Amino acid sequence: MKLWASITVGIAALSVVGAALYVSSLSESLVKRISPNGSFYDARTHYFQRGPFDKKVVCITFDDGPHPTSAKTLLATLKAEHVPATFFVVGSRVKEHPEIVKEMIDEGHAVGNHTQDHIRLDTLPPDKIAKQIEYCETNVERATGHRMGYLRPPGMRFNDSVLKVSTKLGYTIIGWNIGAKDFIAGKPKKPLDQMTVSEAKTVDLTPELVTSRVLKQLKKGTIILLHDNPVTAAALPAIIRQVRAKGFEFVSVQKMMQALPQPVQVASNPVLVAKTSAKMR
Ligand SMILES: [Zn+2]
Repeated sequence: MKLWASITVGIAALSVVGAALYVSSLSESLVKRISPNGSFYDARTHYFQRGPFDKKVVCITFDDGPHPTSAKTLLATLKAEHVPATFFVVGSRVKEHPEIVKEMIDEGHAVGNHTQDHIRLDTLPPDKIAKQIEYCETNVERATGHRMGYLRPPGMRFNDSVLKVSTKLGYTIIGWNIGAKDFIAGKPKKPLDQMTVSEAKTVDLTPELVTSRVLKQLKKGTIILLHDNPVTAAALPAIIRQVRAKGFEFVSVQKMMQALPQPVQVASNPVLVAKTSAKMR
């Protein structure tokens, strides 16, 4: 995540562990979009990073699924606890497990686009950025009969091209501002994006560690980034219990955007009516 080396989002964000923004003309202007209550939504680029700091609400999001086993566990816990979530799915995995994605929608959760192959979009030319988004979209449409309104670029890596393509295709980008690093334990010996999968597997990551990382960072209006993996699935009951014990309510991304100073209406998964969509023009 070289993105961490980029700019910090203003004074109001200094206390927030969050996705910094990639510096370039369009995205640079995003730093000025923080409202007095701490919420962050940029209407021009349709980029939402966090809700108002004056309400004890949080959103929970799970990236990189659907995973054939942990997604089922996550869904069962969310159902038992009546917690709405957003799953940012990878198109190639949707193709392998379409029934899980259908279940996510049927259970009332939001499903968002996390590209077809989990590729860093800021490394691609505009036509390939569009293909990565559209292929994932097609897989979700086939699996569920629904389209997607949300996009989360892998690694939150984006530049002007990504913002332009995303806006043109009708997406709202959903960022995050609490990351539990639920794919790695301890202090990484080298940057996360330079670590191999086998190196990551050698670290000792427990559900308790994931839970404590979430709880330590918890703030009003936050969007929590977790991953669809077995450790997080094991941690989720404790995360929900402890977040609620602190007086926070879990809300959908849609509801959090409706609570912005200037409410934003974005349908997370509109029903697919026809193949000839605005996105294809
Ligand atoms: Zn991801």
